[in-house]
Amino acid sequence: MDIVTPEQRSKNMAAIRSKDTKPEIYFRKLLFAKGYRYSLNSKKVPGHPDMYLRKYNTAVFVHGCFWHRHGGCKFAYMPKSRIEFWKNKFEVNQKRDLVVRNELFENNIKCLVVWECSIKKMKKDEGFKNSMLVKVIDFLKSKDLSMEI
Ligand SMILES: [Zn+2]
Repeated sequence: MDIVTPEQRSKNMAAIRSKDTKPEIYFRKLLFAKGYRYSLNSKKVPGHPDMYLRKYNTAVFVHGCFWHRHGGCKFAYMPKSRIEFWKNKFEVNQKRDLVVRNELFENNIKCLVVWECSIKKMKKDEGFKNSMLVKVIDFLKSKDLSMEI
C-alpha cells in the first residue's frame, strides 16, 4: 500500500536524484579508508562515474535500485499511477546505462555497479560489509571487466 503523500514523494525523489546521495558518500569513504584513491564524477570517463579509480582503470557507479531498475529488488517497484510515464523513464535510464557500459568497455575501462540496497545492508551488517569489500578489492585487482554487487 502507498502511504506517502505526493509532496513527500516528490521530496524523496529530489533527494534520490541529488548528486551527492548518501550511499555514494558512505561507499567512497569505505574505499578511501582502505587506501583506494579516486576522482569524483570524472568528465573524462564515459558516463561520468561516481568514482573513477585510475590505478585500477575502474569506473564505479552507485545505482539507485528504483531509477536503474535493479532486477528482482524490492526497491525497483513499479509506481501505481502514471505507469506509462514511469515505463518510458525507466527505459531511457536503462538504455543510457547500457550505452555507458559499452562505451566503457570499448575504452577498456572496468565497470563496477554498486546497488543502493547493498549499501543499505552494508551499513547495517558488519559481516556483509566486509565480504562486499573483499569482493570489490578482488574485482579491482582482477582482469574481469564488470561486476555488480
Ligand atoms: Zn536493489
